[in-house]
Amino acid sequence: MRPHALVTGGAQGIGRAVAELLAGQGWDVTAADLDEAALRRASGQWNDISPAVLDVTASAQVAALVDRLPPLDVVVNCAGIAAELLPLKDISRAAFERMLRVNVGGTFLLAREAARRMEGGAIVAIASRGYLGGAGAAHYVASKAAVVGMVRSLAVELRWRGISVNAVAPGMVETRMIDDFTSEMRARLARLEPGGGPMPPATIAGAVAYLASAAGRAVNGQVLLVDGGKSLGVAPC
Ligand code: NAD
Repeated sequence: MRPHALVTGGAQGIGRAVAELLAGQGWDVTAADLDEAALRRASGQWNDISPAVLDVTASAQVAALVDRLPPLDVVVNCAGIAAELLPLKDISRAAFERMLRVNVGGTFLLAREAARRMEGGAIVAIASRGYLGGAGAAHYVASKAAVVGMVRSLAVELRWRGISVNAVAPGMVETRMIDDFTSEMRARLARLEPGGGPMPPATIAGAVAYLASAAGRAVNGQVLLVDGGKSLGVAPC
């Protein structure tokens, strides 16, 4: 039987790239997303990926989807939201709570419901280089640091059942998410990237596919930074 992967945020961006790469490698893939229109657009170009409408913050929906799928080998949570680099004074309580509900709550619910039905395999969460800190968008940074903390805890708890749990922390990636930034901010951030601009989503998908592979499952509780080394600092020459 072909292995089965559930990829959330699968309608576009990093999630879509992950779904398409795994499907190309012979996996059965379910790509789930809240955005029905984007899911319809993507699935028009898919032959071998099953689309599913899902809000990762709704526990009943997550449980129902996991229950109707065959037991999962791999779960990748790419569903997430971001924010521009907002100063603390401009972050509303509502924006803070929504950020945690989607980025942390979604990761938690998906891991909890999927692990219930997994017999070995891999869980991969998409964090962000931002988890390391830095000024601006404290609610986004907090949410991604929480994802990393959860991954480290679940890795220890679930390893006894043969399930690895890791995070991929991308630098700037060319997706709709960064299209929402102002053009001035986008250009400023892009100039700081080691490659001179954002990476294609396929680069992140490659890292996820490694962690999902049989060899990659020996890696557990880690954060794979895929950012061209930017997080190590700026070269002096
Ligand atoms: P994207 O906006 O292209 O894709 C995110 C997808 O998640 C969308 O299809 C959206 O509909 C879906 N989604 C949002 N809320 C959801 C919910 N409640 N339930 C189900 N689906 C939901 O953005 P992306 O860049 O592909 O982002 C994917 C992940 O990568 C996010 O967690 C993001 O924080 C992270 N990330 C992105 C970048 C970047 O530069 N693009 C950098 C670092 C980390």
